[in-house]
Amino acid sequence: MKNIVLFGPPGAGKGTQATLLKEKYNLVHISTGDVFRYNIKNQTELGVLAKKYMDEGDLVPDEVTIEMLKAEVNKNADANGFIFDGFPRTESQAKALDAFLSEKGEQINGMVALEVSEDLLVERLLERGKTSGRTDDTDEGKIRNRFNEYNTKTAVLKDYYQAQGNYFGVNGVGSIDEITNRLAQVFDKL
Ligand code: AMP
Repeated sequence: MKNIVLFGPPGAGKGTQATLLKEKYNLVHISTGDVFRYNIKNQTELGVLAKKYMDEGDLVPDEVTIEMLKAEVNKNADANGFIFDGFPRTESQAKALDAFLSEKGEQINGMVALEVSEDLLVERLLERGKTSGRTDDTDEGKIRNRFNEYNTKTAVLKDYYQAQGNYFGVNGVGSIDEITNRLAQVFDKL
């Protein structure tokens, strides 16, 4: 199996790229943000809980997120591999993912990170908010809080995967095609 963590700050283009790469490599794309949004739309118990955090740009608690992620993986038992998008976002999520995959005799082949500067991203997110229908993309204060969560809790994951020799940074500035090609060069080697 090819199991890849697609990493990067909010607005880096993870969702767009994962949608293209899952086809190319026949992988299952799991976006924890999308799963939460689906649950919010359908007013499930999980959705009601997640909404409180997402509306503020805060991370949803680890326990809830980890359980949800495991359930999504288990729904796709015959997958060729996974692209994890938006997960893990904390060190304890990364450890839980490693332990969970290892129970299945699997592992993360690599963290592939889209590297883009924060100022460019705030502009992109505000632009996306005009059409995405995402309430967390329309308020600059909430966007800044998502970056704060990213910088304080998520950015450390670079070190976590680097220590395993599994971190691959990719320049995330350019056209969608250019970036897909850069990512594919890394995916091919994993
Ligand atoms: P995203 O679609 O990846 O930008 O995620 C949108 C929001 O969903 C985040 O700001 C968090 O509130 C929540 N979320 C998504 N993935 C996670 C995760 N792995 N851990 C905690 N919260 C998450």
